[in-house]
Amino acid sequence: LRGAAEKGGRRVEAADLGQINDGCFVELGGRIAWVGRRRDLPPEFAGRSCLRVDLGGRCALPAFVESHTHLVYAGSRADEFESRCQGATYQEIAGAGGGILATVRATRAASLAALARGAQERADAFARQGVATLEAKSGYALDAAGEVKLLEALGRVRGPRVVRTFLGAHAIPPEAGGAASHLAAMAALFPEIRRRKLASRVDAFIEAGYFEPALAEGYLVEALRLGFAVAAHAEQLTHSGGAKLAARLGARSVDHLVRVDDADAAALAASETTCVLLPAADLYMDCPYPPARKLIEAGARVALATDLNPGSSPTLDLSLVGVLARARMKMSLPEVITAYTVAGAHALGLGEEVGALTPGRRCDFAVLSGSWRDLFYSVGHAPVAATARDGALISGGLA
Ligand SMILES: [Zn+2]
Repeated sequence: LRGAAEKGGRRVEAADLGQINDGCFVELGGRIAWVGRRRDLPPEFAGRSCLRVDLGGRCALPAFVESHTHLVYAGSRADEFESRCQGATYQEIAGAGGGILATVRATRAASLAALARGAQERADAFARQGVATLEAKSGYALDAAGEVKLLEALGRVRGPRVVRTFLGAHAIPPEAGGAASHLAAMAALFPEIRRRKLASRVDAFIEAGYFEPALAEGYLVEALRLGFAVAAHAEQLTHSGGAKLAARLGARSVDHLVRVDDADAAALAASETTCVLLPAADLYMDCPYPPARKLIEAGARVALATDLNPGSSPTLDLSLVGVLARARMKMSLPEVITAYTVAGAHALGLGEEVGALTPGRRCDFAVLSGSWRDLFYSVGHAPVAATARDGALISGGLA
């Protein structure tokens, strides 16, 4: 992925994957010290002090970055999915006490230990698919004590590197008394979250009926002032102006982007904000898919993620996301691989740290059981034999 990394994940072509045949790489202190063809290995690394691992000719590539998940929650909304499939609308389900607030009730009632256990099981399932960096949001408690509990639960997850995001602005709980007063209550948590390093990012759900751009702006500006990176869910159900707001504020990412026009694409292309597309959510919600080609051809950086959550995207399958991106959004396989490595890393502010196997970056890699051309091809199947973070295995084996 050397070429894709040099381009910042924009307008990549097949050659940017930088495939090295009969290659090897050297890890020192959890970082990549050297990468190239095996016969070019410098003598200082060929000595007996190095532990050599023979991958048996298999393909190694940078570990995947899953840049948008709601990893920690309790309860199931399987019955709600059945109702939606049989014709009920999201609004009808929410009116009957379902939707996000159903997960909020179950999550508030769950213990810290149970929440951490659920998050760990899901993190392990991502690691088995080659993921070594995982974004995870709070947002299913929506009160002060509960949101802190969710961020603490995420802090207990082992295996993949977890980038924690505070999503107190996910929905408006009935007791909050409206969007503005809920945002004020959630912003009051910023100093504690910052002091205890419970999250490095703040996200907001910008959508008609949730948090309008004018209201979200003040909230996100306050987060930036306190030193958080910011992100937004925007332009999924309606075209609200959230994408332009995110680009203007220098958000790390703006996520969903189903309903974007040419002006949005131009604004995003001119910014450092990464577009995180979530096609599994569009599948489950029966929405149109995001216009990936419009964004890519404008020069925007496009990442892909599962949006794992119990309501609108109850899946942690990277292959489903990649197949939808290829078949429905017409992204090429090199674009999908870049989206899940270099671009995902940029979405989390780790663009120089992970996402490519180049010297100086963290030694996060996946070893495939087949060709890289088998990636994002067979839904439900990850052709991954092992995943390593900082040079140490977090899933599978190299034997
Ligand atoms: Zn989401």
